[in-house]
Amino acid sequence: MRFLTVLGFIITLILGPASPALARIKVLTSFTVFADMARNVAGEHAEVVSITKEGAEIHMFRPTPGDIKRGLGANVVLWNGLGLETWFERYLENLGDVKAYVLSDGVEPIMIAEGAYEGRANPHAWMSPGNAMIYIDNIVAALSDTDPDNAAAYAANGESYKAEITATFEPIRAALAELPESRRWLVSSEAAFSYLAVDFGLKEAAIWAINADSQGSPQQVRRIIDLINDNQIPVIFSESTVSPKPAEQVARETGIAYGGVLYVDSLSTPDGPVPTYLDLLKVTSQTIVTGLTAQP
Ligand SMILES: [Zn+2]
Repeated sequence: MRFLTVLGFIITLILGPASPALARIKVLTSFTVFADMARNVAGEHAEVVSITKEGAEIHMFRPTPGDIKRGLGANVVLWNGLGLETWFERYLENLGDVKAYVLSDGVEPIMIAEGAYEGRANPHAWMSPGNAMIYIDNIVAALSDTDPDNAAAYAANGESYKAEITATFEPIRAALAELPESRRWLVSSEAAFSYLAVDFGLKEAAIWAINADSQGSPQQVRRIIDLINDNQIPVIFSESTVSPKPAEQVARETGIAYGGVLYVDSLSTPDGPVPTYLDLLKVTSQTIVTGLTAQP
């Protein structure tokens, strides 16, 4: 395998790109969710690499020399912006002259309402079927700028991927619309679902605003317990990349259900529950629907 890679490289050096397989561009993304989106848009025309791995904490990630090495040779870099990847700009300096695209461009930011990060944009804008359309359009534009020869393929792949996401959400939206108004609450550890809550017509609350903040301080826990009691909220969830302990504690102290794990900041490995972005949207939304519709 390695021999073939080296051989391909030598042939490319001598002859120039001889086939589409050898001419593939290298797309680098800040985390796994965007890598999967980019693969759907790129099809066979790109090699896509994520800097952070499956299951990684992405807000305050610390790149190793190996993470830098994996990014070398990238033709285009895709990242979220909106204050999500606190480490990204320093990382990018290592890659030399490569163009980076902010995928949240064009999204209407939702501001963090309270806590240490009050007034800043909530960065989790990809977690919304509505905003996913903007992200995919931005990926199509970035890949087409980088590799104009395949622009038609990127545009066609982007359109069919967007249609697939829209179709996935129709039944989930319909199930949530059946719920009584008083149960339409999405409460979790990190406030990572502000955009999804808007798309689904849910009110949102969380123990902490963003993972960069402290996670589950006594004040944060007390505040959410009061909110749950005041509004008779039926269930609390937690995210896959943080400890579920504070959410489980809140569930115990209020007597409400712990609804399980929601996925937002990272995909799982291929054999896990959410190896793709569509899986992540499906599993997370289904967990929310199940938790909210279960009778106490
Ligand atoms: Zn997050």
